[in-house]
Amino acid sequence: MSMFTAVEMAPRDPILGLNEQFAADTNPNKVNLGVGVYYDDNGKLPLLQCVQAAEQNMMKAPTARGYLPIDGIVAYDNAVKALVFGADSEPVQSGRVATIQAIGGTGGLKVGADFLKKLNPQAKVLISDPSWENHRALFTNAGFEVESYPYYDAAKRGINFDGMLATLNAAPAGTVVVLHACCHNPTGYDITPEQWDQVVAAVKARGLVPFLDMAYQGFGYGLKEDGAAVAKFVDAGLTFFVSTSFSKSFSLYGERVGALSVLCENKEEAGRVLSQLKIAIRTNYSNPPIHGGAVVAAVLGNPELRALWEKELGEMRVRIKAMRQKLVDGLKAAGVKEDMSFITTQIGMFSYSGLSKDQMVRLRNEFGVYGTDTGRMCVAALNSKNIDYVCASIAKV
Ligand code: PLP
Repeated sequence: MSMFTAVEMAPRDPILGLNEQFAADTNPNKVNLGVGVYYDDNGKLPLLQCVQAAEQNMMKAPTARGYLPIDGIVAYDNAVKALVFGADSEPVQSGRVATIQAIGGTGGLKVGADFLKKLNPQAKVLISDPSWENHRALFTNAGFEVESYPYYDAAKRGINFDGMLATLNAAPAGTVVVLHACCHNPTGYDITPEQWDQVVAAVKARGLVPFLDMAYQGFGYGLKEDGAAVAKFVDAGLTFFVSTSFSKSFSLYGERVGALSVLCENKEEAGRVLSQLKIAIRTNYSNPPIHGGAVVAAVLGNPELRALWEKELGEMRVRIKAMRQKLVDGLKAAGVKEDMSFITTQIGMFSYSGLSKDQMVRLRNEFGVYGTDTGRMCVAALNSKNIDYVCASIAKV
């Protein structure tokens, strides 16, 4: 008898479980389209040149590793604000944004969730159906009741926008609405600028609390374009939350570089909000690690490195788009009768392929092509060497 006798085995993380199965697969042609990671055309995780250059500069002037402030590196937080809201924007200029360096985008979401739970313990959280699989668990673990708003419409191969809007319009004031700022994970379908206007209007009319999750800024159409939803909420005079992740855009997954920004009504309020965010951090992990934040701050703060980053980010974005087109063309050439052109209207790293669970299981077991049972495939893991095999495999199922 141990104190852990009653501890149940938790279910495996679905994506990490897929990874384990992939690693054990002996098929020489196997392709992993399960994880949300960008690989280059050689199937390698890139180490960006801008990151290497920043690290080399840091090596030339090594520094001791004291604790960072609870809210992280000042230059980093300022760079995040500039990226999310615009350096010359009114919110940044007036000092009414509270930003903290977080442990990845996940950390930004969690610090925000902990703060919100103290602020409004009765609030419910609404996430998209479907959403990034950790949204529900994260907000549930922070103590919230989590429900969803309609999003994906399988029959339409698109978004059930009327359903989404109707749910927002029926939500009680104070409901936290988690919105994917761009490059929706897992579907790859984003709402249009006009639809964003309607979402902003509904959020404003109902007094909802917007929480924008920005994990892919720069992977859709460009840094500014992908931040357009944020600007719409600013223009509407709303206060809201934005989590940022640099995992993908800097290919710094394991360094855990992210942030949380809270737009407040004025500078004084931002000071009070920041003080509470710092308590959430202090009581969880005290303060953030240095390296990843220092690299990102160094790149964003140096005009040459920043230009290099934007170039490299653009190359990743363009390569993903090219792979989408190749997938559509390749499926057609492989004999798929159905019109698959919807894949090029999707954006970001993922595609909801429309394949059934049975088809995804067959792809995995018979062909070693790994995606999630929901039909999600990471198009950012396709390359010129595996694309023909993937197309031929899909055509066979
Ligand atoms: N939010 C969404 C929508 C994501 O897809 C991800 C990562 O896959 C995250 C947040 C978390 O990002 P990070 O790895 O920086 O914690």
